[in-house]
Amino acid sequence: MIPVISKLPQTGTTIFTTMSALANETGAINLSQGFPDYDCSPQLVELVNKAMQNGHNQYAPMAGVMALREQIAAKTERLYGSVYNPDTDITITAGGTQAIFTAISAVIHPNDEVIIFEPAYDCYAPAIKLMGGVVKSLELEPPNYRIAWDMVKRLINNKTRMIILNSPHNPTATILSKEDIDELSALVKNQDILILSDEVYEHLVFDGEVHHSMARYPELQQRSFIISSFGKTFHATGWKMGYCLAPAYLTQEFRKIHQFLVFSVNTPVQYAIAEYLKDEHTYLDLPAFFQQKRDYFRAGLQNTRFKLLPCAGSYFQSVAYDAITDEKDTDFAIRLTKEFGVAAIPVSAFYRKGIDRHILRFCFAKRQETLDNAVDKLIKV
Ligand code: GLN
Repeated sequence: MIPVISKLPQTGTTIFTTMSALANETGAINLSQGFPDYDCSPQLVELVNKAMQNGHNQYAPMAGVMALREQIAAKTERLYGSVYNPDTDITITAGGTQAIFTAISAVIHPNDEVIIFEPAYDCYAPAIKLMGGVVKSLELEPPNYRIAWDMVKRLINNKTRMIILNSPHNPTATILSKEDIDELSALVKNQDILILSDEVYEHLVFDGEVHHSMARYPELQQRSFIISSFGKTFHATGWKMGYCLAPAYLTQEFRKIHQFLVFSVNTPVQYAIAEYLKDEHTYLDLPAFFQQKRDYFRAGLQNTRFKLLPCAGSYFQSVAYDAITDEKDTDFAIRLTKEFGVAAIPVSAFYRKGIDRHILRFCFAKRQETLDNAVDKLIKV
């Protein structure tokens, strides 16, 4: 063996891969990794077929198929009132994770500090570290996980380069409020701080609340990379299709990396989504669709010993299991999979130090029958 110095010595395989593999191995119901167990729209599949038959099988332009970028610009303007130029401000990516990595690597230099909020989606910190950046994390407290903005203020100094936000939030299912936006705006005003806003669950906001996209607020929008995901929006996580919105000066740097990371992404799928997006019901109907699943799953879980945490957005439901056991969440998640037949994600995986608050995350983007079967099993715990 040739000696190799690991760039990420503390990093193993992601918890999503690990838990899905265990679910498959044991035949457990997989409520761990976030993906639907029902199919995406047959119309969308038909549109991909059509694009392939029409010969759209070669490289897409580096930044993405123009028809798709135009549809994204129209959707963003309609929903959030901001104008993104498809030519200079929108890039189609191979899913959210690639877009996040690309944005971080485009602007983070050695010793730059990046603020994240933990629990945090697991791909932020490794990307920051690979660029030589320094992760500054602020821990959020269950069950409401509100951001204490006075604490954020204390983390800011002249090395702070970026704040990473995620709303709706994975794994906690919280959403940013208008008050959060006001605090954030006041904090970054006159500072050279960029924002990376992970908004992959932008269409999964419940109870009539609005999604506070950075795109709604010109001052924030001007300093933000906004990431979204068609995998989440159109129930097609396996297509690995997302995008990044950013003002031209940021997009220019983003594309310098993007072109050497993936060059461009799947052509026929881009044509298909461009066509599909013309019908706004394809995304406007999502809150009602997922809210029904959330309510159904929560009602079922009321009959178990798991305690429900709030769920304002995303397709994740967190539960506290103090009433059941004091096992570590990683151990309990494995035992729940093997002995009771339901796989979940232990939330300690979203903390760099593995902080364990005895909370598990379930994904409810599942058929009613799957949710019924899972609840039947969870009742026995
Ligand atoms: N976003 C998905 C989740 O939180 C996982 C995606 C992945 O496995 N990379 O479950």
